[in-house]
Amino acid sequence: MTAQIIDGKQVAAEMRAELKEKVAELKTQGVTPGLAVVLVGEDPASKSYVTAKERACEEIGVFSNDNRLVADTQEEDLLALIDKLNKDPKINGILVQLPLPKHIDEDKILLAIDPAKDVDGFHPVNVGKMVVGQDAFLPCTPHGIIQLLLRSNVKLEGAEVVIVGRSNIVGKPLASMLIQKSPTGNATVTVCHTRTKNMAEHVKRADIVIAAAGWPNTITADMVKDGAVVIDVGVNRVEDATKKRGYRLAGDVDFEAVKEKASLITPVPGGVGPMTITMLLYNTVQSAEKTLQ
Ligand code: NAP
Repeated sequence: MTAQIIDGKQVAAEMRAELKEKVAELKTQGVTPGLAVVLVGEDPASKSYVTAKERACEEIGVFSNDNRLVADTQEEDLLALIDKLNKDPKINGILVQLPLPKHIDEDKILLAIDPAKDVDGFHPVNVGKMVVGQDAFLPCTPHGIIQLLLRSNVKLEGAEVVIVGRSNIVGKPLASMLIQKSPTGNATVTVCHTRTKNMAEHVKRADIVIAAAGWPNTITADMVKDGAVVIDVGVNRVEDATKKRGYRLAGDVDFEAVKEKASLITPVPGGVGPMTITMLLYNTVQSAEKTLQ
């Protein structure tokens, strides 16, 4: 069996078109969704993520408020900016690009964001609400994965899902969402990590494998059941002398071999990645809609 490719760019484009319509509708009611993006320092990867987020806002008509601060910005100055953005009625979402420079306490900054504007879904209030199944901003990457699965007609109810990775931004929230008693959950979930014994045995059982370990080739073809759905979250730089920049991007899955066994598979790049920013836009629009309720 050769797997069908789940085209994350295409699904993201569909969702962005839907969001663009919603934004136009909100504007007729006098509301322009606004996202404040905060970047501290000059990290090139963070800069490019922030630029991509701002471009995506522009594409669907969301107003983006750009805050680029020097690397030696003091924690109290960043907290003062967050406080100002919390109080600004034009801002519906606040995104602080991580990682922050070492001298700033990331947890303190994330806690300072008003949970009603926490469109990354990282504030413990939103995390707690998500776990108990209350209305909350859902973290973007796991929510994007669930949307990819649903929009590819993958049945979650009763599915055996094995997630590799237990980080706070991917593995843990994804597991929590997938076990909710809801149409976007109802799966049976196993979460693997570096202390898991016989990981291959767990992965072999899975109807859906989700790899978020951060290492190339963590998932090989011998670990995957025939016909499984494989979602690759990993983004890894692999040396490649044939590329001008000296590397290429690869996921956590041995794509070429696994695609011969899976029924559906996401590529890297072009799979989960485009969905993450889309779900940030989704949360920002949702936050703006709430101001009308
Ligand atoms: P992370 O914080 O480094 O967590 C990695 C997790 O994987 C940990 O729980 C670790 O276990 C586990 N792990 C690592 N190697 C393993 C192995 N060989 N076997 C089993 N478990 C293993 O990473 P993250 O932030 O979740 O990100 C994971 C990957 O996804 C990275 O490549 C990242 O770049 C990518 N990512 C992509 C997007 C996107 O939008 N496309 C978004 C977020 C992340 P322990 O807990 O035991 O250490």
